[in-house]
Amino acid sequence: MNLIALPAFTDNYIWMLHDGTQALVVDPGDAQPVFDALQRLALQLSAILVTHHHPDHTGGVAALRDATGAAVYGPAAERIPEPLQRLREGDGVSCLGLAFDVLDVPGHTAGHIAYYAAQVTVDGTAAPLVFCGDTLFSGGCGRLFEGTPAQMLASLDKLAALPGDTRVCCTHEYTLSNLRFARAVEPANDALASYQQACEGRRARQQPTLPSRIDTERAINPFLRSRLPAVAAAARARAGAAAPADEAGVFGLLREWKNGFQ
Ligand SMILES: [Zn+2]
Repeated sequence: MNLIALPAFTDNYIWMLHDGTQALVVDPGDAQPVFDALQRLALQLSAILVTHHHPDHTGGVAALRDATGAAVYGPAAERIPEPLQRLREGDGVSCLGLAFDVLDVPGHTAGHIAYYAAQVTVDGTAAPLVFCGDTLFSGGCGRLFEGTPAQMLASLDKLAALPGDTRVCCTHEYTLSNLRFARAVEPANDALASYQQACEGRRARQQPTLPSRIDTERAINPFLRSRLPAVAAAARARAGAAAPADEAGVFGLLREWKNGFQ
């Protein structure tokens, strides 16, 4: 399989997975980059996977479906134009000979889902892969537009529990700004400092920082580390004496801190 991050808008990626003949894409907010890639690589589009309803993830779906006849899959609980095969946790999707399991990961939106495949061989290496939309980013997580801190924490726990070598295919190139925030939260995290340096190098060469890996994110992403004493203490200190003490409360403080971080 070939895994490609097609740039769209200012900082979105539309993930494309193809076997040289058939392709699937994830969250095509714009149809044009997908049409261009299909033509350039002489591929047929067989499936469109949607993680949540935001327009920068769905704007190109109708044009792609109408032009290619691709099957469209998306979350059961969100308002996405029909026809659509509606999915929730426990459901699966088969395409390109791969089996994807659907995970419910609410928080960014109320019905957000992710797609997990236990084994995908890319560039000769077999590893799991997850298309996680705007739930988990490298070094960060999505904003809580429709969900609570407790919901997002549970969703991130679910993703963090995937195998360490899982390729994390997020939909935005937010990594460098996320890592600046992560350094403010955990200035003594050496793994974070060296990952930041590596990502700065990739961006300087105009390369994506993605996909990331679950084991990397466990080591550097403050939103997967909010229960660690150093991270929780930083979030509480930032918020002052009245800071809540429970896990979801601390996670919420961390998310609010990031919202205002420059
Ligand atoms: Zn979104």
